[in-house]
Amino acid sequence: MRGFCGDSMTLPSAPPTQPRDPEEVELLLQFVRERNVHCPRCDYNLRNLSQPVCPECREPLQLTVGARKPRFGLLIASIAPGIFSGIAAMMLCAPMTITTLRGNGPPWPVYMVDAFGWLSGFFALGLFAMRFRFLRLPLGKQVTCAAVIWFIHVTAFMILLAVAFH
Ligand SMILES: [Zn+2]
Repeated sequence: MRGFCGDSMTLPSAPPTQPRDPEEVELLLQFVRERNVHCPRCDYNLRNLSQPVCPECREPLQLTVGARKPRFGLLIASIAPGIFSGIAAMMLCAPMTITTLRGNGPPWPVYMVDAFGWLSGFFALGLFAMRFRFLRLPLGKQVTCAAVIWFIHVTAFMILLAVAFH
């Protein structure tokens, strides 16, 4: 069971005013009647609830279906290097622009590294946009995807170190 989120954090919580499906409400109350289910917002034990609202924090409640074990680890592992590279590339832009404008720009590998960072950042954003497609992939493919992305980034980082300290 999950709380009915949305605007409940900003608006003062009141009993729901929108018409509720009485069957759904009955199912919800039936579900918590003999179970120790906790409010998703304040963790109050909802056992023997009589209204579809948390008695403690007034959060409107609804019955939903959730995954037994949501797996976002590989998605996060696949997106993280790109987000990091993208942010690093963005921060690198200012000093690069300044040195270029002063007439002695950085050596060309720095441009390559920055371009890689931007590409990687946009790739990560694309992956985030297609996250549901990613999560539908079989686990083995998700592992491969995360491993390839990490391999590319670790390799790029080692090339960067080699160029910086040659
Ligand atoms: Zn509550």
